[in-house]
Amino acid sequence: MKNLTIAIDGPAASGKSTTAKLVARRLGLTPIDTGAMYRAVTLKVLRLGINPEDEAKVVEVANKTDIWQECKNGVLKTYMDGEDVSEEIRTPEVSRYVSVVAKYPGVRKHLVEIQRKLAKQGGVVVEGRDIGTYVLPDADIKVFMKASLEERVRRRLAELKAKGVKVSAEEIRKELETRDRIDSSRAFAPLKPAEDAFVIDTTNLTIEQQVEKIIQKVHEKFGDEDP
Ligand code: C5P
Repeated sequence: MKNLTIAIDGPAASGKSTTAKLVARRLGLTPIDTGAMYRAVTLKVLRLGINPEDEAKVVEVANKTDIWQECKNGVLKTYMDGEDVSEEIRTPEVSRYVSVVAKYPGVRKHLVEIQRKLAKQGGVVVEGRDIGTYVLPDADIKVFMKASLEERVRRRLAELKAKGVKVSAEEIRKELETRDRIDSSRAFAPLKPAEDAFVIDTTNLTIEQQVEKIIQKVHEKFGDEDP
């Protein structure tokens, strides 16, 4: 399925990243994590001591930032100005500010250009918030993943605990609610399902079941043929 393009959108901690990586592996495609790109710009802004609310400065930094992604041996790496920042972009501090940075059209335009360039290579599973609606409106398969807030808090808490990050369920709940609100209400390319998206509620699904539902959609639409 080397030419297939799959778009996966949804709110924070809805299971997109893990699902996108596994679907990509099953179909021999390349995963692209667009959230990681917004996180990388946010990391740079914070490192430079710039106030994330200062739109003009943030956009200036974003436009001077070289972001790249590469998947080697099933491991997705994100590079900022040539530096591997795959781990550092996951800190609670970056999570706290990323939605503010991501609402600026000047930041989005720069990153969308990079995302479209990467996707043009073909054979990709691209995950984010605006992939089916704005970045790749012609994607072959569009999926919108959602899950209850309680379940998303539980998943994110388990993920951070496994990494040794100390954070309470209440802090995570607040962060997810704030990010969902900013992401859904911004004027430019907000978080919402594309009209032709296949919506999956993952609240009561295992990762394997989520992956299987997407693979099934691909086979229903294309059989074993490349589109
Ligand atoms: O996917 P992840 O939760 O890592 O994304 C971090 C943030 O990046 C989101 O909360 C959102 O503000 C922003 N984002 C976006 N558009 C995308 C992907 C992520 O605005 N396509």
